[in-house]
Amino acid sequence: MFFMPVKYNEPLFRPPAEAYSAIIQLTLGCSYNKCAFCEMYKSKKFTVRSLEDVKKDIAALSDYYSGVKKVFLADGDAMVLSASKLLGVLEEINSGFGRLQRISSYALPSNILSKTADELKLLRKSGLKLIYVGIESGYDGLLRLVNKGETYKSTVDGIKKAHDAGIETSVMILNGLGGKKYSADHAVNSAKLINEINPKFLSTLTLSFPFGENHYVNNFGGTYQQQTVVELMEELKLFISSLDVKNVIFRSNHVSNNLNLAGILSADKENIIKIIDEKIANTPVDSFPVSSDIL
Ligand code: SF4
Repeated sequence: MFFMPVKYNEPLFRPPAEAYSAIIQLTLGCSYNKCAFCEMYKSKKFTVRSLEDVKKDIAALSDYYSGVKKVFLADGDAMVLSASKLLGVLEEINSGFGRLQRISSYALPSNILSKTADELKLLRKSGLKLIYVGIESGYDGLLRLVNKGETYKSTVDGIKKAHDAGIETSVMILNGLGGKKYSADHAVNSAKLINEINPKFLSTLTLSFPFGENHYVNNFGGTYQQQTVVELMEELKLFISSLDVKNVIFRSNHVSNNLNLAGILSADKENIIKIIDEKIANTPVDSFPVSSDIL
């Protein structure tokens, strides 16, 4: 067991790219916490931590992680805090840690939109260079069925506003989110949204059922029928082939995925589609994902 200089409120999640970052919990849980497919913070009541406690963590972590280059702000959506609170924390982080490459956070589009353009520029100037946005889908009908609380428009507007302030984005699309019925609309509209925003990083995860498929079916606002691996791959192929973006770093290497993919889009599009086609050709048509019950 690793020694940690602060006592984290568990469970603690961070993106894979933040594996070597110092993690500072500004809030606990998720301010929204109602998405049908997400169980990450169901055990937590959303709480804003006091600046005093956050300052203590910054002092302890900056001592412990001498030379660390990145800081990640947890939990689910630290961007829910007002710009003035965030700026106060960023100031503490910068004076405690010294030279950092970047500070990053998960963010909901609505919480980016609640900041003014000038506030976002100030946050960027204070080191907030990257935000992770779980877009999940670009199809409004499906976003409603999973109770995402965001729309195609709010997502595009929020992300463009961040980009205009110089903040880069890493965005996620959830393969299989709508099951068989909504698969094509999900793939095509998600690609359309990605084409509009051209993020720096794009990843796909696959829907999984940590509390069982029935739990998801009961939370889903429509008819959900689980897709086979081949159907999930067909959906992914339709999504990738509908993309028209420039220099987007694409990764599909989460434990939930049936196939590991990586490349730069759109340059590597044909190669990625070829790998998906091979997977489709070599998979029995009636097989379901083995990872369907993992988080
Ligand atoms: S997907 Fe994001 S916004 Fe939705 S409940 Fe989970 S952490 Fe909160």
